[in-house]
Amino acid sequence: MSFVVAIDGPAGTGKGTVTKIVAEKLNLVNVDTGAMYRSVTLKALENNIQPTETEKKKKMLQDISIELKDNNGVKQVLLDGKDVTEKIRTPKIDQNVSKFAQIAIVREKMTPLQRKMGETQNIIMEGRDIGTAVFPDADVKIYLDATSEERAKRRYKQNLEKGIKCTYEEVLKSIEERNKIDTTRKIAPLKKAEDAIYVDTTNLSIDEVVEKVCDIIVSKMGE
Ligand code: C5P
Repeated sequence: MSFVVAIDGPAGTGKGTVTKIVAEKLNLVNVDTGAMYRSVTLKALENNIQPTETEKKKKMLQDISIELKDNNGVKQVLLDGKDVTEKIRTPKIDQNVSKFAQIAIVREKMTPLQRKMGETQNIIMEGRDIGTAVFPDADVKIYLDATSEERAKRRYKQNLEKGIKCTYEEVLKSIEERNKIDTTRKIAPLKKAEDAIYVDTTNLSIDEVVEKVCDIIVSKMGE
């Protein structure tokens, strides 16, 4: 039996960074499920497929291949064999991903792929519905949160570091819109699983969140 850690929460809580560090420290395979929904969105946009075009979406999903690779600690996302690691992190994808992620056939395709990854290896998987829908029996469930202003501040800083031009107000608006769709959608909405441990990261540094998350996991591993 493999050991599964589920990390959920909205954008900008430090989920991605924290999960990556914790995975290295505790020797867990890190799975970023947001990258999968982002890849689907990229493929749809590149093929001019609208969220409403069901048949086109079905066809697109039939033969989609998404691989999450780890090259000595450097995460790489391959969509149909091509490296899309950078391309899935643009504001355009940010603005569209939730519209595709709320679609039933998209989730029906992604969820089994994610479950499969937890069958044979010890994982730390981050997303929106990992503790509630993908692995409701996960060994550890953690919900990371922060105020939307703090989350927007962090994402704005990240964008500037990556050379993406934007204003703080634009980032805040985008984060809030995405969160609204993610928390109110019909299928597997973002919410804290009842048995998840809630961590408010608003006033914590990345190192502090890493320490808290590691402590929670290690204490569960020892049970
Ligand atoms: O985590 P990240 O911000 O990259 O996720 C991008 C989007 O993918 C989320 O806003 C959400 O719409 C979708 N997502 C999801 N379920 C997951 C992971 C991500 O619906 N498990």
